[in-house]
Amino acid sequence: MDLKTWVRPNIWNLKPYSSARSEFKGEASVFLDANENPYNAPYNRYPDPLQWAVKEKISQLKGVPAEQIFLGVGSDEPIDLIYRAFCEPGIDNVVAIDPTYGMYQVCADINNVEYRKVSLDNEFNVDADAVLNAIDTHTKAVFVCSPNNPTGNSLNRAAVERILKSFAGVVVVDEAYIDFSSQPTFLHLLNEYANLVVLQTFSKAWGSAGIRLGMAFASREIIEIFNKIKYPYNINKLTQEHALSMLEKAGQVKEWVTILLQERVRLASELSRLSIVKKVYPSDANFLLVKVDDASAVYRYLVENGIIVRNRNNITLCMGCLRITVGTPEENRLLIEAMTKL
Ligand SMILES: *Cc1c(COP(=O)(O)O)cnc(C)c1O
Repeated sequence: MDLKTWVRPNIWNLKPYSSARSEFKGEASVFLDANENPYNAPYNRYPDPLQWAVKEKISQLKGVPAEQIFLGVGSDEPIDLIYRAFCEPGIDNVVAIDPTYGMYQVCADINNVEYRKVSLDNEFNVDADAVLNAIDTHTKAVFVCSPNNPTGNSLNRAAVERILKSFAGVVVVDEAYIDFSSQPTFLHLLNEYANLVVLQTFSKAWGSAGIRLGMAFASREIIEIFNKIKYPYNINKLTQEHALSMLEKAGQVKEWVTILLQERVRLASELSRLSIVKKVYPSDANFLLVKVDDASAVYRYLVENGIIVRNRNNITLCMGCLRITVGTPEENRLLIEAMTKL
């Protein structure tokens, strides 16, 4: 991948902001360089702009060098940076599967970048030829999501690899739900494909949606571009501290995932026994896509009973569907109890 031909010229030529903490990184006893208040330690100090301590831990856990990791304010930040790095507003376009996570389109719209949707097939699988046919000379990125939201399935691996091989621009594989999946991650293919960007997040299996921390894994060169255009101190100190403490608790996260996977099986089997449920789609994520007789009526009934699910009735290929997150055993029991009475 000749990155220079893919990055917007203004971004390629950008001289990034140089912060105090990026100019001097070492140890010292007196810091008088950043106009910080000397009182109220430790939050009086600016955080590490490149979050090396957190990245080192993630690197050990994922087997990816720290220089190939970008940390953002949720996965939403790297999604937005992909548009800002590669797509000329009003000229370039991206291609994405449909239905999928809503933020790809929102970021395209904010950046005035054409968003081309390629429908999944009836099994919710990606048609690599259809994706490749939608690509033209102004296509700068392809977004796929596996396991996909809201359909819950993992995409056909061979199809995603074909896209990676046949399109030279950036291919984003969003793995927000990878910890719940029976399929392997695409992280192992980073060395094989210089155009691959894998997204993961602390918001789902890691139980840390509140701290807003997303991960992007890619070539050193792509990560350097993201680092150049991000806000200098994008990840605050509290978030970095919480992430470090969660990374020490990987065993706890595994236990949560084990429980949620058991609950996913139980919830699917109990839901499929209800007469109002027409279909429970197979899931590789921590939610179930469930087709019911009248999705909007079931949704309203559950709200009245204090239970909130996501109504996906108006989404492509998801007519009549609710997206239901797998909760604790007790939460799932309450959902089944309410739906049994309907
Ligand atoms: C939940 C989710 C995310 C997570 O976004 P954050 O900004 O990291 O909270 C990313 N991608 C998909 C497909 C999701 O469903």
